[in-house]
Amino acid sequence: MKKPFVTLEQLKEMSKYYPTPYHLYDERGIRENARKLMEAFSWNPGFKEYFAVKATPNPTIMKILHEEGCGMDCSSLTELMLCEKLGIAGSEIMFSSNVTPPEDFQLCHKLGGIINLDDITHIDFLEKAIGCIPEVISLRYNPGGNFEISNMIMDTPSEAKYGLTKPQMFQAFRILKEKGVKEFGIHAFLASNTTSNDYYPTLAFQLFRLATELKQDIGVHIGFINLSGGIGIPYRPDQQPVDIMAVGEKMRRVYEQILVPAGMGDVKIFTELGRYMLGPYGCLVTRAIHKKNIYKDYVGVDACACNLLRPAMYGAYHHITVMGKENSPEDHLYDVVGGLCENNDKFAIDRWLPQIDIGDYLVIHDTGAHGHSMGYNYNGKLRSAEVLLREDGSTKLIRRAETPEDYFSTLIFD
Ligand SMILES: *Cc1c(COP(=O)(O)O)cnc(C)c1O
Repeated sequence: MKKPFVTLEQLKEMSKYYPTPYHLYDERGIRENARKLMEAFSWNPGFKEYFAVKATPNPTIMKILHEEGCGMDCSSLTELMLCEKLGIAGSEIMFSSNVTPPEDFQLCHKLGGIINLDDITHIDFLEKAIGCIPEVISLRYNPGGNFEISNMIMDTPSEAKYGLTKPQMFQAFRILKEKGVKEFGIHAFLASNTTSNDYYPTLAFQLFRLATELKQDIGVHIGFINLSGGIGIPYRPDQQPVDIMAVGEKMRRVYEQILVPAGMGDVKIFTELGRYMLGPYGCLVTRAIHKKNIYKDYVGVDACACNLLRPAMYGAYHHITVMGKENSPEDHLYDVVGGLCENNDKFAIDRWLPQIDIGDYLVIHDTGAHGHSMGYNYNGKLRSAEVLLREDGSTKLIRRAETPEDYFSTLIFD
């Protein structure tokens, strides 16, 4: 059974200050999870997690993770500006973007961040944009084909727009070595939201092999290998969470099997986790405002897909707890829906839940990553607030809700 990290009593108290809907984050969970990740990879002295800012681009969340030792993985100009505002710079920034505009490269270079190139043509593009090639650079690898874990196809890199082919990796490393690059990184993101303990070790096996080949062939110094994001979370109650300690241990074995014998025992492991860092430690708090009975039973809530797009976009499952009714029989079959004029605006379809009454608080689980951040303004809906539940049980508004004035602020009337 999935249990919310907040109680009905706390929600009732919060309702004095924060109208629903809002995203709520659990500081304790975020910190404990980050510490466990660090522990799992503590065998690698250079290990660093660069939090994928796009998952939850909120300064308070970023500060908490930075305090826990995380750097920031940015993908756009504004995410870089967020780091700049927070005083996060230099090797604390990884910039993994694609179809990158020149201004983004320029700001990343100004901040001293590590640039991860998505294509071989970006070498010239970057040189034109910033007037030089940095001494440290990373390249994103796309092996093509299918990505498999024990003969199961997890994803299809050959259909993905990202990264360089293997021959291009060799060519690009040669060019960059010629241009004076001193330290190289290799990056790959080959499967998303995987709850298998074998994802990172399988990916690492491929990347470590490639790294040894590149080193032998071209004689470059590989400083780091970036496994990127992709570790998933158990959205469904019957799913098992990833055992991060087991992942770390398996990674250590692959590292000792491949890199250490190649004289590459100094390679730093980097990650760019988003979902794993924040997903379970955020939820969307909403209330039932309508009930409707036609061919099916509908519960209308005050949140909509503008607050959480994943169900509408991917058909993603998000668990729902009807607060205060955790022990009631789940004997009602509901569609839980938002108010958009789009029939995919459904947080749950044919879900067995306890009887819901108007005014009930519903907690939609696992919205901490790719939740608020994927929000939008369709139907003139306003994006919600974000609230932090601190370790001492107090709360803090960390992003106010949009107002109609915000919505009107970009409109031009003449
Ligand atoms: C989205 C993204 C991540 C984070 O992915 P998660 O699935 O949230 O772990 C990391 N790196 C890059 C380049 C990404 O695009």
